Amino acid sequence: MSDLILLALDESSTLQLISRAFRAVGYKTVSAHDKASVDKLMQESHPALVLLGGQLQGEKSTGLIDSLLLKYPTLPIVYLSTENSVELIQEVLQKGVSGYLHPPLKTDEIISTVESSLKRAKRLGDWVRKEVKHTTASLEKRVSEMEVLLTIGRDVTSSLDLDGVLKNVVSAAVSLTKSEEGSLLLLDEESNELYMRAGHNFEEGFVRSFRLPVTDTLAGQVIETGKPIILNKDSLEKIQTAYLVQALIYVPLKYKDRVIGVLGVDNRKHRLPFTERDVLVISLLADYAAVAIENARLYEASENERSKFEAVLSNMDDALIILDKEERIQLINDVMREALNVKPVEDVFNKAIRDIITHDDFLSLLERKNENLRYHEVHLDSDRVFSAQYTPIKGVGAAITMQDISYLKELNRLKDDFVHTVSHDLRSPLTAVLGYAELLERVGTLNDQQKEFIRRIQSSVEDITSLINDLLDLGRIEAGFDSRREPIHIESILEYSLGNLEASALEKKQSLEADISAELSLLRGNPIRLRQMFDNLISNAIKYTPESQKIDLKLHQEGTQIIFKISDQGPGIPPEDQPHIFEKFYRASNVVADAPGSGLGLAIVKTIVESHNGRIWVESKVGMGSTFFVVLPT
Ligand code: ADP
Repeated sequence: MSDLILLALDESSTLQLISRAFRAVGYKTVSAHDKASVDKLMQESHPALVLLGGQLQGEKSTGLIDSLLLKYPTLPIVYLSTENSVELIQEVLQKGVSGYLHPPLKTDEIISTVESSLKRAKRLGDWVRKEVKHTTASLEKRVSEMEVLLTIGRDVTSSLDLDGVLKNVVSAAVSLTKSEEGSLLLLDEESNELYMRAGHNFEEGFVRSFRLPVTDTLAGQVIETGKPIILNKDSLEKIQTAYLVQALIYVPLKYKDRVIGVLGVDNRKHRLPFTERDVLVISLLADYAAVAIENARLYEASENERSKFEAVLSNMDDALIILDKEERIQLINDVMREALNVKPVEDVFNKAIRDIITHDDFLSLLERKNENLRYHEVHLDSDRVFSAQYTPIKGVGAAITMQDISYLKELNRLKDDFVHTVSHDLRSPLTAVLGYAELLERVGTLNDQQKEFIRRIQSSVEDITSLINDLLDLGRIEAGFDSRREPIHIESILEYSLGNLEASALEKKQSLEADISAELSLLRGNPIRLRQMFDNLISNAIKYTPESQKIDLKLHQEGTQIIFKISDQGPGIPPEDQPHIFEKFYRASNVVADAPGSGLGLAIVKTIVESHNGRIWVESKVGMGSTFFVVLPT
């Protein structure tokens, strides 16, 4: 196709002449007579050259040179001057026109100038195209290199398949460096040998059996120095017995300054030398491989720890559940599942505990968690009893552990049964002993010593009988046998009890001072048991308070609660004994050895109070006396 010439000239006979001359030698022409049509034709017809007249519509056209070359830098422009001026030639040449003609204008001169400009422009165009092609090719190569590296990088961070990742690293190393083989060697620290963890273009068997000593080998050198090796030989280089290569790159696999292996590529057949850039690419891949290996190691280590931890938790005998701060289940072991009837297959992770477990005793532990409870019993429907603890865990939430104490409960029940039976069976023979001791005096005269012995027998038997009665009472109240309730005036019961015990207080020259409110509500209760409660508390106060001291009693009402308070000036109760004094047979450590009593009195009191839905507690300081409080609902 012939070139198109744009004639940017004013309409004139010269234009006709030039246009004809060009056509005669085989060029096509288009004409424009002003700037706007020049621009339009440039865009529409893509002329190969512009022949620009010195004037367009009476104006200088030098400005147009600038705007044309700004848009089309390789466009040849031949300038057709109207005058022969050195300044003008200089100006337009500086602007970058490729030819300059001045009057008198001859058509052959114009044509030859145009032709040589076109030739030069073509050469320039060819060169530019070649350069662009070259640059594009190398850019494309870089881009595809980057893409491969990016994919591997993504692989390393997202895949847990170490074999796959390492295989990909080695094959990328081979393809990016256009080499024949690639291998990833890892150091076996025990044997100080390198083995092949992944290979490309090697036979499976070769990969598996590959072993290379660290000493005196190229790969070993990389391990020892931590520096890459690049080898481009004219002769063959032996890297292993009977293994020769022409070119090779080995780079270290480093993790935190520790060399753990070597990544290498080599050429055995072809003499394709490697470049420093290849070393760079392989080093990058080696970094990826090292990270992948370390990630896998860390993952395995943490998985091991986790499964060990899980095994410990699920195999422990205690039931365990771990909750987060929002009381969602984070972990539950098999014992807890079994205890609380959560199916082994049910996925309860992250579910709200109250949605999964509906057991009242268990949930009340959650309600009372802020009370710093040490013991909390959970009674399951299956007659099993657990002792549960709630432990807040900073940063996690809380752990609830439970131990099966059913067997302890059962033992306790057996003990109570035993004590009850024995007490019961002892009562009749003791009554007989007492009866016959009384009869002795009636069947014959006894001397004073004999009388004294009989008195001692009677007193001892009375002690044992009262102990047995206490035990039987306790058993009866605990078993809920005396649930009889009637409306009572609690103040009369207290007064009755006081009347009975006044004599013992007098004996010790103690004063009993009672402050009994006149406006007390009726209370539903068991009068005999409540009397027993007052008796025990008051007689304790008398018993433990030294002679000539004062005992204060107060009975009043607050709202729907009757409050009884008894304060003495006795020895007090050591703080470590206070939590236990309401247990059966428990006596505080400061009780004098011969003080009468069996440690059952307060246990009976507590059982009575609780069977009336009340509460009892003590406040006491050693040497400062004790105050017992009883609160009963009206
Ligand atoms: P006991 O038969 O030993 O009095 P209790 O069950 O009545 O048994 O009391 C248990 C223990 O509580 C007593 O052994 C004593 O150590 C302590 N205790 C009870 N009341 C008082 C008190 N008023 N002053 C000091 N200690 C007391």
